[in-house]
Amino acid sequence: MIECFNSLILAARNKTVITMLEEIRVKMMKRVGQMREFCDSWIHDFSPIALKVLTEHTARSMKCSIEWNSDIGYEVLEGYFRHVVDLPRQTCSCRAWMLKGIPCPHAIVARHHKRLNLMDYISQWYSRDTYMNTYSYFIQPVLNLKMWPTSTNPTIIPPEVRKMPGRPKTARRKEASEPKKQENSLKGGLK
Ligand SMILES: [Zn+2]
Repeated sequence: MIECFNSLILAARNKTVITMLEEIRVKMMKRVGQMREFCDSWIHDFSPIALKVLTEHTARSMKCSIEWNSDIGYEVLEGYFRHVVDLPRQTCSCRAWMLKGIPCPHAIVARHHKRLNLMDYISQWYSRDTYMNTYSYFIQPVLNLKMWPTSTNPTIIPPEVRKMPGRPKTARRKEASEPKKQENSLKGGLK
C-alpha cells in the first residue's frame, strides 16, 4: 500500500531540520521505486483508478438513450437530463469528460454508437508511459551525516530565546448558575 505524501512525512516533521530532511530524502528515494513497482502491477496501459471510473461510467451508460443528428452531434438522455456530446471535440455538456479526461457515460453511449475504441478517448495523463515518466528520475544515495566534510564557514547562531506571552484561554468562563456539563441537545434532536 502506497502512503500519501503527508502521512509519509508525519514522523519526520517534528524533528530537527537536517534529520527531517534526511528522513524525507530516504523515504522519497524508496518511494520512486515503490511507485514504479506499482505501475508494473497494472494489467492495462491505463491506471487502475481511471479504469475503475470508466467501468462505473460504462454501467451508467447502459441506462442512457441516444439520438444522433447524422453528423457529429448526439443527444443523450440520462434520467431527466439530456446531454449533448461532441465526439471530435471530446466534449459533453455534463462537463465531466473535460474535467476528468475520462469519457462520461454520455460519451460512452455516443462512442458505442460509432463503434469507436473507448481507450482512445482516455487522457494520456492516466497512461502507463506518463506515469513511468513521472518516476523516471531517481534520487541518488548519499553518505551519512558523520561522513560529511566539516564546514569552515562561521557557525550560525540561533536567535535569542524570548519568553512569549501566554495564549489566552480558549474555554469560555461559565456563569456560576450554568450547569457544569452541557445538555446533549443535538443527540436528542436527531432522534
Ligand atoms: Zn457527459
